[in-house]
Parts: sequence; structure tokens; C-alpha cells
Amino acid sequence: MNQFKTLRASSLYCPKCKATQPVYEKLLLVLPDREVYDYLCRRCATSIGSREVKAGANAPQGLILP
Ligand SMILES: [Zn+2]
Repeated sequence: MNQFKTLRASSLYCPKCKATQPVYEKLLLVLPDREVYDYLCRRCATSIGSREVKAGANAPQGLILP
């Protein structure tokens, strides 16, 4: 087993294609403490998921003020 494999998804179920499709990542939002990525279907470009990447390990969770 590969312990170093990330949790990054490479394919997700697309409701529009009605099948599991390969996805690509698009940077959607950059916040002071995290970045939000969108997963888009490679076939139809529908957003079928998202992922948040924390910028700092000790960043507090919860309310984020502008
Ligand atoms: Zn699709």
C-alpha cells in the first residue's frame, strides 16, 4: 500500500454524465488561511466537488472575517 498517496480525487461521479469521470482541479478561492479548489468533470466541465487546503497547520477553524 502506498502510504504517501494524497487524498486528492482523480475521478468523481458526475450527475450530468451519469458516470464516474476523471476530474481536474481549478483554484476557486484564496482565503487568508486556506485555498478552495473546485473539481470539474473533464467531459462536461460541471463542478462535481471541492477541496479545501489549509495554508497553516495551526489556523483556527470556524468563522472567517473579511
Ligand atoms: Zn460530466
